[in-house]
Amino acid sequence: MKLENYVTGKWIKGDGEGEILYDAVTDESITSVSTKGLDFASILQYGREVGNPALRKLSFHERGRMLKALATHLLNKKEKFYELSYHTGATKADSWIDIEGGIGNLFANASLRRKFPDLPYCTDGDPVGLSKGGTFMGHHLLVPKEGVAVHINAYNFPIWGMLEKCAVNWLAGVPAVVKPASVSCYLAEVVAREIINSRILPEGALQLICGSAGDMLNHVAAQDVVSFTGSKTTGLKLKGHPKILAETVPFNMEADSLNCIVLGEDVSPSMPEWDIFIKEVRKEMTVKAGQKCTAIRRIFVPANKLEEVYQAIGKSLSQTTIGNPLNDKVRMGALAGKAQRENVKQNVQRLLAGSQIIYGSLDSIELIDADRNKGAFLSPLLLLNEMPFKNEAVHEIECFGPVSTIMPYKNLDEAIMLSKKGKGSLCCSIVTANDKLATEFVIGAATHHGRILVLDNDCAKESTGHGSPLPMLIHGGPGRAGGGEEMGGVRGVKHYMQRVAIQGSPSTITAISQSYQPNAKGITSKVHPFKKYFEELQVGDQVITEKRKITTEDIDAFARLSGDHFYAHKTDTDFNGTMFERQVAHGYFVLSLSAGLFVDGSEKGPVLLNYGIDELRFTKPVYPDAELYVRFTCKEKLPQDLKEENDIPKGIVKWLVEMIDEAGEHVGVATILTMVKRKFLAEPQSTQEKV
Ligand code: NDP
Repeated sequence: MKLENYVTGKWIKGDGEGEILYDAVTDESITSVSTKGLDFASILQYGREVGNPALRKLSFHERGRMLKALATHLLNKKEKFYELSYHTGATKADSWIDIEGGIGNLFANASLRRKFPDLPYCTDGDPVGLSKGGTFMGHHLLVPKEGVAVHINAYNFPIWGMLEKCAVNWLAGVPAVVKPASVSCYLAEVVAREIINSRILPEGALQLICGSAGDMLNHVAAQDVVSFTGSKTTGLKLKGHPKILAETVPFNMEADSLNCIVLGEDVSPSMPEWDIFIKEVRKEMTVKAGQKCTAIRRIFVPANKLEEVYQAIGKSLSQTTIGNPLNDKVRMGALAGKAQRENVKQNVQRLLAGSQIIYGSLDSIELIDADRNKGAFLSPLLLLNEMPFKNEAVHEIECFGPVSTIMPYKNLDEAIMLSKKGKGSLCCSIVTANDKLATEFVIGAATHHGRILVLDNDCAKESTGHGSPLPMLIHGGPGRAGGGEEMGGVRGVKHYMQRVAIQGSPSTITAISQSYQPNAKGITSKVHPFKKYFEELQVGDQVITEKRKITTEDIDAFARLSGDHFYAHKTDTDFNGTMFERQVAHGYFVLSLSAGLFVDGSEKGPVLLNYGIDELRFTKPVYPDAELYVRFTCKEKLPQDLKEENDIPKGIVKWLVEMIDEAGEHVGVATILTMVKRKFLAEPQSTQEKV
């Protein structure tokens, strides 16, 4: 049965017989794929015209809730995905990374909505004052791009690869056209089908291409973003595609990466870090049969411990049972296919010119419940290269399988130099119990790695490990790793948004950004903002308070009450050589008395509680006899979801507190947060209705 492509709102089979896909374990044909006859220009245009407008009009919060609903939906269907995943040669643990790791990305990005306003767009960074009188200013705005996110993915994690990228572009408000690698695309297909059937996403938010990308890249345009994961050769070819160059289409590339691990010079066999190191190496070599973009390809150990380390790794690898991933005893499955295995073998042969196999074999392998002539199995291979500065192929050739090379180093400088010889990697680890050594290594090697993990006994137990890209941290690496950046929390979302500098008056920028800018006109009314429900409050709602005179008695009383007797708050201090002329009011007293001025709530009202302070600055000393008042303005509103059934519907409101003295000058500025009740229940969770 041929797999269908989901394009322009329909499931469509490509023409012809298509490419046959095989089970990695049994070599039986599973399905075939074809994209012949697909009109790629219309596919991309459909994404731009149907998916994009539907997504971009939703707020970040609505998109985030949509991701959460989708993640929950997919989690309920996970068994279906696991069943199919075995065909790729993946063990249950490998599939967990792909399936639940991918769904986890959706959850993580769903939660990320809280870092954004409840708007379709957001500001970026701080406002910039551009005039003395405060009537002209600048800011940066991020709006969703008007194109599609085109994802060309690798074969190793068909589900994670799709979801880790889509979660980000969907949160940004941009639809996706996903082209998984053909060999394992049936897994992406089953997940995509669930996504489409769930109707949680607006139509056009996801299109799926099963098979060749055809002439798709001929039709990309300036508002699209292309992300590629795969080999350096293909990546460079696509990056240099004439249409990508002509339209300056952002191109994100994750390519081959010669990741490494370093054993610190301080670590000896009696230390827990020794076992941590051995375990990490084995894990990285065998998880997903080493077909991980982040897997450890190069192992650097102090020269005087070389033999002891490789013997320990060999011993550890010998405990890895290989075979049919459906068998519970199996710890390492097959490679994705025979072509992939052949490619690894050829690359190992190239490495053998400057190294030798010290564990494993290219030809023989012991299998559980599987036929070595049928499945794409390969034994873990540990290579030894005793002259890593001379035999340099190890820093050039990536064997995308359970293969790693161990090498000696003499001192930390050498370890740093060797780690950089990969010319840019996705991830590098150092195992050490010495923070000074860790610091030197990290600062020395940081230019060449996308992520550096420092492992010691304190963090090893809870560590997410060398090979796990995390949704909130940037995934990508410089140089040969492609120079790309994926995920990374808010940073990742920005890749799918267009940044524009905006200039105007503070009131205009407030209206556009929906975030109150200092010096903008406030909205005053007879109703105190604390009497308004969340929905009734407007950004810009303002109160100018009464004035209050500060006395020495006030300051002394606050000192007694708080126990803060800092010399500057005392009358009998000799103020020579200090920052002050005489007794000065405590900053926290100034803030507290400000609250006394702006709070209106002796009776129960919509404001539920004081939630905290985001920023607080004391900008001018306050001496006795100063007369202060507060300009108190609603700055931003962030809705909150109901956590449980009888939760009070509410949102967080940020307030700008400007503390001003008799000269009209600011003595302090703060952003405080309150929790404010909603008048009505929160918006429906489903975004389909809105779209
Ligand atoms: P390829 O570069 O051949 O394929 C990667 C993706 O690109 C696949 O979806 C493939 O589709 C697609 N593709 C290939 N040619 C074109 C083209 N002309 N136009 C558009 N799309 C195209 O990589 P491999 O499949 O060989 O993957 C293995 C390599 O990928 C590994 O050796 C490893 O180096 C690298 N990799 C890197 C990762 C990372 O994150 N850095 C992760 C995983 C792998 P199709 O399958 O249909 O050919």
